[in-house]
Amino acid sequence: MKERIAIFGGTFNPIHNGHLHLCVECQKELQFDRMILMPDHIPPHKEVGYLAGETDRYEMCRIAAGEYPFLEASDLELRMDGISYTVYTLQEIKRLYPQAELYFIIGSDMLYSFHKWYRYQEILSLAFLVAGAREREEYDRMVQYTEKLGSLSSRVRIVRFHALPLSSTQVRKALHLGDETVSGLLPAGVLEYIKKHGLYQFGKGKA
Ligand code: ATP
Repeated sequence: MKERIAIFGGTFNPIHNGHLHLCVECQKELQFDRMILMPDHIPPHKEVGYLAGETDRYEMCRIAAGEYPFLEASDLELRMDGISYTVYTLQEIKRLYPQAELYFIIGSDMLYSFHKWYRYQEILSLAFLVAGAREREEYDRMVQYTEKLGSLSSRVRIVRFHALPLSSTQVRKALHLGDETVSGLLPAGVLEYIKKHGLYQFGKGKA
């Protein structure tokens, strides 16, 4: 049987339990042989003020991945020149693993603008798109959107799950404030790394 590889791309600034919960739920549903966390180089879909650099974002992904046997982190996009267009990333992965069946994981908020992604048809010819419902009760809306993709809709899998209502923006704010409850929002090893390297101006925002 073909090896099944899932790629989960994001800015991961920083990676948090919401991301990891999505990974675990997708893994439960689709049982990949491996899943790769892929921090992006220059995100094409949104403007991001980089508060942690690429090496730190990658290191935090590596630490987080270490806690799950199916998960690993890759710096492939960070090493690629130019903007991290998903189509180029998938072409590169296909070149590295020509026999594998590829899957690309996204949260639902990303799904609704998928038809605007650079060469999205080609993305779907290279990989199945796995979309996790980030908000509760969102499944029907996602199915409706997918149907608009016509025959390509067969390349989309929607994973129904209760997402953790959490974003990196929220985590960064809590880190800046040195809020102790932040330990419930991301893996202990990642928090330790952030403190050690003074990322996100940890605790500097304390009143
Ligand atoms: P930011 O707050 O900086 O915009 P973010 O938390 O949305 O960041 P990203 O790195 O931009 O994180 O997201 C990477 C991927 O993870 C996207 O596909 C996004 O939809 C998904 N995602 C982010 N947070 C969650 C969550 N809590 N549950 C499920 N998916 C999530």
